Amino acid sequence: MFLKGKVALVTGSTSGIGLAIAHELAAQGADVVLNGFGDAAEIEVIRQDIENRFGVRALFAPVDVADYEAMEKAIATVETELGSLDILVNNAGIQHVAPTSEFPIEKWNKVIDINLTGVFYGIRAVLPGMKHRGFGRIINIASAHGLVASANKAAYVAAKHGVVGLTKVVALENARANITCNAICPGWVLTPLVQKQIDDRAAASGRSVEEEADALVSEKQPNARFTTPEEIGALAVYLCSEAARGVTGTAISIDGAWTAQ
Ligand code: NAD
Repeated sequence: MFLKGKVALVTGSTSGIGLAIAHELAAQGADVVLNGFGDAAEIEVIRQDIENRFGVRALFAPVDVADYEAMEKAIATVETELGSLDILVNNAGIQHVAPTSEFPIEKWNKVIDINLTGVFYGIRAVLPGMKHRGFGRIINIASAHGLVASANKAAYVAAKHGVVGLTKVVALENARANITCNAICPGWVLTPLVQKQIDDRAAASGRSVEEEADALVSEKQPNARFTTPEEIGALAVYLCSEAARGVTGTAISIDGAWTAQ
């Protein structure tokens, strides 16, 4: 329970990786602020479950990470209601798959707005409070696609490479302020974001969803298995620990040796 007394905002935590990170941080005693979209009643169940299971406070901030004013206001509200904001996990993200020559302009703008600009917005809004309190842990969920590319993912790969660069800048600027900033670069994790890509592939190839899932993960990941959201959550917990205070400005892969090739 080494995070008791700390407050964490995890963007995009109504499902997938973000929700698992929120669970792992709450399991260590952190109060958590959930964020993202979805059914209000289902999100309320998730919020209450966190409070009951881990004995922490959990809030829900239903703001769009690509809206700076809304983010700034939500962060100020968290600081007032929970007393601080010590950990920011920039996890919200979307995907769109198309060849660059046909990539819809509005999809490009949306992916960049959420996956890159949204990360900058969150960091910009939390840094003054973290500096004032002399503690901060910023974790950006980038991707293997922050380090290497795949065809048909122009906006996503550009945004994630941008996140890795932004991570380094924020780490440098705050190296003496007890604020660390790191990127986690997962390979394939079976979440709604990836399930859609598998379903699209199965529809196009006529093969089963299971066959396409195996093919998708094996093409890129030598270990041929999906990383679980909980494994990403455990890495985020480590990055918040005292043992990780010297780990900053890095991009940590958790990708079954995808980017070792
Ligand atoms: P997901 O689709 O399950 O969850 C995405 C979350 O982001 C949801 O809670 C959604 O409501 C929220 N969201 C979307 N747009 C938002 C916005 N504008 N403002 C606030 N919240 C918003 O996806 P996931 O697979 O859990 O992905 C989480 C992160 O991990 C993303 O940044 C993704 O790029 C990254 N990632 C995923 C994988 C993978 O294989 N799943 C691999 C590498 C990196």
